[in-house]
Parts: sequence; structure tokens; C-alpha cells
Amino acid sequence: MPRPTRIDIDLEALAHNVRLAKTLAGTAKVMTAVKADAYGHGLLQCARVLANSADALAVAICEEAVALRNAGITVPILVLEGPFDTEDLRVINQYDLWSVVHHKHQLALFSEADTRTIPSRRDIGLWLKVDTGMHRLGFSPAAVPPALTALQTAGYPSPTIISHLAIAEKPEDSTSHQQFARWHSLTEALGGSTSLLNSAGLMGRLGGQSDWIRPGYMLYGGRPGGLFESLPLRPVMHFTSRIMATRRVPVGDTVGYGGRWIAGRPSVIATIPVGYGDGYPRTALDGTPVGIAGQICPLVGRVSMDMITVDITDHPNATVNSPVELWGKSLSVDTVAAHTQTIGYELMTRLPARTPRHWLGG
Ligand SMILES: *Cc1c(COP(=O)(O)O)cnc(C)c1O
Repeated sequence: MPRPTRIDIDLEALAHNVRLAKTLAGTAKVMTAVKADAYGHGLLQCARVLANSADALAVAICEEAVALRNAGITVPILVLEGPFDTEDLRVINQYDLWSVVHHKHQLALFSEADTRTIPSRRDIGLWLKVDTGMHRLGFSPAAVPPALTALQTAGYPSPTIISHLAIAEKPEDSTSHQQFARWHSLTEALGGSTSLLNSAGLMGRLGGQSDWIRPGYMLYGGRPGGLFESLPLRPVMHFTSRIMATRRVPVGDTVGYGGRWIAGRPSVIATIPVGYGDGYPRTALDGTPVGIAGQICPLVGRVSMDMITVDITDHPNATVNSPVELWGKSLSVDTVAAHTQTIGYELMTRLPARTPRHWLGG
């Protein structure tokens, strides 16, 4: 029997979630983010489903877009980080990609102000990035009109204006207020096509902000910050295993590396064949919930490379081979993340090749 640790990807749940995103977006167009291997869910498998209903796909880098085009995906694809060099510029042209322009050096690439560049087609979609306050990428609001003029002079008639929110799940936060104010005064002055919101912005129904919505995490069933519980999203990723061993541990004995957990009562400990080498986070604290045959039990002791240990003292039916859910249908990745000092996004995107993935439906 193979090691029972595996990941199932439910492509019907993905299709359901993108339909929900489209409903929430109303008349706005929907660009679905499939960067980082579709948040760990499989780039091509997910893109094939999303391309059926989304207006466009978004990736971080050119290599991801090329993989999509080589697999026969023909919908528009936006490269969120834009070109790093002239080779990327060539790829953007050859593969008919859309590109963000976030920096002067990219402006030079596209406008050929830089004589080292190759000629660029003028019919590719450019998205001019404005830094409204996240301070990660983009032109300052004051630098946007001249950048826009430079692109229009170079022959790109109507770049879309794009920005990103730092705290989209908290629209009432002062940083968000400031970002919205800068966004509205800039885009109202400029006119033209715009794009602002990610999943949290869409889920928080911050509608009316722009023409394009860019959801990622919610498509995979994630809830940013564990919020928006009332939205009927379906988890796409199911990370499961089975109990491989059980043992009794007397009061006062410790479990696992470093002896972090000490039995406060006579305990029954289950060992599960999943560890940080399989993508289960080593930062998981004692008490991190683990689903064991339909009941939540606490993780105890440090996560090893290949195994974890769980206290099943209060679950007398659990035994060797009982099914285990690390995260998925009944235990959300956001709940697990809250116990592991990270976010669900990271748990999903750092699953190693060792963990077998299986795609269902779609
Ligand atoms: C990844 C990304 C998104 C999607 O964000 P989610 O929080 O996953 O919805 C949107 N816009 C940009 C610029 C991104 O990098």
C-alpha cells in the first residue's frame, strides 16, 4: 500500500467558486490569478477550468504565461510583474501577453526610449501600475500622467490603470481610506479602464471601484483573514492522510523532537505520515486542529520532516488507518494557518512535489 498522504484538487469546486466571483463582480470583468502554480493547485488544470468563465488570467511572471500558451490557453493573460528584460519583452510580444508596466525601466522597454530593446507590438494590452499606498510596486500618482503620455506617444492608445490594496480585508482602515482617496482622484481625472480589487475587496463587496476585479485566493476556497464566512465558497484543496501508528504515553513523558509537549494525563498519541517535507508547516503549535475520522484532535509535539503526532485520547474510535484531514472540506486551511503563524496562501503554495496531487472533475 502506498503512503496514504495525498492532495485532491476538486475542479468542480473551483468552477463553483469562479461562478460566485463572477456573480459578486456584477458588471465588472474578472481576471483570475493563477500565479505560483495556481496557488499550489496546478497551473494548467486550474487554468483550463477558469478560462471557461473568466475574462482573463493573471500570472506573476512570463514563464507562467508561456506554459499556459504552450498548453493551448488562448484567453488574455496579464503578467503582473511585467518584463524584467528584453528577453521578457520578446516573450510578451511572441506569446501575445498583456503586461503590467510598474517602473521607468519598463516604460523604456515598451517605448524603445532604450535603444537596446527589440520592437514591441502596439496592440498588446498594457496595464500601468500606480502605487496608491502599498509602496511595493508602481508609479506614484503624480508620475502616472506623464507615464501614460509616454506610452500613448509610443503608440499604446489606452493602458488600463491598475493598483493593489494593502489591507483589502479592512476597508475601514486608514491605509485603505488613503488608498481609495488617491485611487478615485487619479482615475476620475484620467478616465479609461481601471482595476483595483483582489479577493478580499470583492468578498467585502467593495464594488464600484473599477472595471476589472482580480480574485485569486477565493477561487481556491480561501477566506482572507478567515473572514467572509457567510459566502458559500467551496474548498478546492483536500490534504489528507491516515493514522500510521498509535501508542500510549504515560503522564510526564514528552512527545517528539525537543520534548516540547508533555503528557498531562495518560494519553493516546497517533502518528500521521505527513511532515514539513510534505508541506505541513513546522511552525504548527501544540493544539493545531487535525481532523481524525470526523473529529478535531489537537496536534501535539513538534512537526517532523515526515510525521506529526496528534493527541487522540478523547477519540476512542481512532485507530491505525483512520482517515486524517490536514485541511480541506471540514477543516479550513485558514483555520490551520491561524495556528501556524502564517496564512493559508502560504500553506497552499509551498506544497512540495513529494506530495502526490490528484485532480477530480473539471
Ligand atoms: C496575487 C494578486 C492578486 C490576487 O490576490 P488574492 O488576494 O489572491 O485575491 C490580485 N492582484 C495582484 C496584483 C496580485 O499580485
